[in-house]
Amino acid sequence: MTTDNFIINKSPLDNQVIDEYKISDETEIQSAFLKAREAQKQWAKASLQERSEALKVLRQSITADIDNLVDLITKDSGKTNLEALMADIYPSLELIKYYEKRINKFLAPEKRSTPMTAPGNRAYVEYQPLGVVAVISPWNYPFQLAINPTITAIAAGNGVILKPSEMTPAVGQYVGDIINSVERIPDGLIQVMHGYGDTGAKIIAASPDKIFFTGSVGTGKKIMEAASQNLIPVELELGGKDPMIVFDDANLIRASKAAAYGGFANTGQLCVSIERLYVQENVADDFIKLVKEEASKIRFTKDPTSGDIGPFTHPDQAGKVEKQIKKALDSGAEILFDGRKNNQPGPVIMNKVSHEMEIAREETFGPVIPIIKFKDTDEAIELANDSDYGLNSSIWTKDIDKAKRVASSLETGNCMINDLIKNVGNPDLPFGGTKNSGIGRYHGPEGLRSFTNQKSIMINKSNKDTEINWFPYNNETYQGLKEFLEVNFGAGFKVSKIPGLIGFMIKFLKGGDN
Ligand code: NAD
Repeated sequence: MTTDNFIINKSPLDNQVIDEYKISDETEIQSAFLKAREAQKQWAKASLQERSEALKVLRQSITADIDNLVDLITKDSGKTNLEALMADIYPSLELIKYYEKRINKFLAPEKRSTPMTAPGNRAYVEYQPLGVVAVISPWNYPFQLAINPTITAIAAGNGVILKPSEMTPAVGQYVGDIINSVERIPDGLIQVMHGYGDTGAKIIAASPDKIFFTGSVGTGKKIMEAASQNLIPVELELGGKDPMIVFDDANLIRASKAAAYGGFANTGQLCVSIERLYVQENVADDFIKLVKEEASKIRFTKDPTSGDIGPFTHPDQAGKVEKQIKKALDSGAEILFDGRKNNQPGPVIMNKVSHEMEIAREETFGPVIPIIKFKDTDEAIELANDSDYGLNSSIWTKDIDKAKRVASSLETGNCMINDLIKNVGNPDLPFGGTKNSGIGRYHGPEGLRSFTNQKSIMINKSNKDTEINWFPYNNETYQGLKEFLEVNFGAGFKVSKIPGLIGFMIKFLKGGDN
């Protein structure tokens, strides 16, 4: 809700006002960039060891403040205590520690090889900061989706302008405050700007050196278009329609418990939730019975200290989910289990769903599992890949070789075998999507380096007056180079070519005749 220039932040748990945030105007955004650019110049001079030490202090400060942070996250988003601790805070602590321990390995200059035609040359890559990065984050995991890209950018030597979701500004502000409380971090290196989409657009218009965006596909497209005006590099972490594929030889009890967790956790407001469940037809009846049993155990709560799922973070989400369910029912789908009560969200399991229905194609972002049966492996792969999205996926079978073959065939950025979602929390694995699920990867060495200018440097130690490839061009060099290419890259080695080649290499080393 907004009044004049303020976001009035209300808790989905009791509709009480938590706090108010002033919406940042253009002048404030400009001044935040100026300040961040100054601070970043200072921060860029910090050694990798100093950056690692700052990450350590940050990790310890967050850990010391866990109870307060859990309380803030639950109030801001409506999720339960355990959901906040396990899925919003814990992955961030893992990521911070991961980079803290490996920053030297990932960002120190790296020696590279040189080709035969550059004898005696040296080559290396430097990983330098980009400048000031815009991090624009959503509301569903308001802590980790704001702090993870922010600390990765900072670890790489950048400054950050963070715009958290207007629905969870309190957690966004916390991210800025706790990072700023680390003494080693220069004042102004990270600043939090509050507001709605237009505030995000103004931040992009101020020309950050990179945009890291997590959110919906529609907004992702707008951001990419706006970024193209100044050729700003973008990383887009967008929606998902994740398939779970259950084969007939899977541990069906384990898979049914996983389906309930993957489909209903955080009231389904999870980019990597199970949005399509494919089960092999010969075990479908048994499996569906088990999933229904698991769904019936899910407890709705507005008390974050008890129960499994809370209210939707924003009331609008309920309407979006209901609309998709209704459309599916109108097109012939059936509800097998309905846990919705008294206008409160609850698990829904649907059957007779086809790929023509919106519920099988568009992200639901609610606690709904549409179930679809398949005959064999080929059909399972075909169905899973028949999607505009490609974020995460999971495969359930005791045959690990088969699971690996299926995993390789899925058009997704990530996959987990006999488990789900946990792979996102593995900081050593790059994470991101294919197709409409996004562009780019974060986490892992790839993620840290994506916040750097990967500068290639090559040194020629020669003091010769000239090089053979410089002017003047002549036929002799042409012939020599051609023979060199034939010997090096062609199919057959011919002894008769050796004398010519040696002559060419001698000339090459001398730098030509000129
Ligand atoms: P959203 O796109 O509505 O908003 C995300 C952020 O973008 C907010 O801070 C918003 O204010 C800002 N924004 C909106 N319009 C903007 C514009 N024109 N320019 C700049 N910024 C703008 O998304 P949401 O509803 O907050 O989040 C839910 C979506 O996020 C779901 O689709 C979910 O799948 C996705 N998500 C993806 C991942 C992932 O890692 N791939 C993780 C979590 C959520």
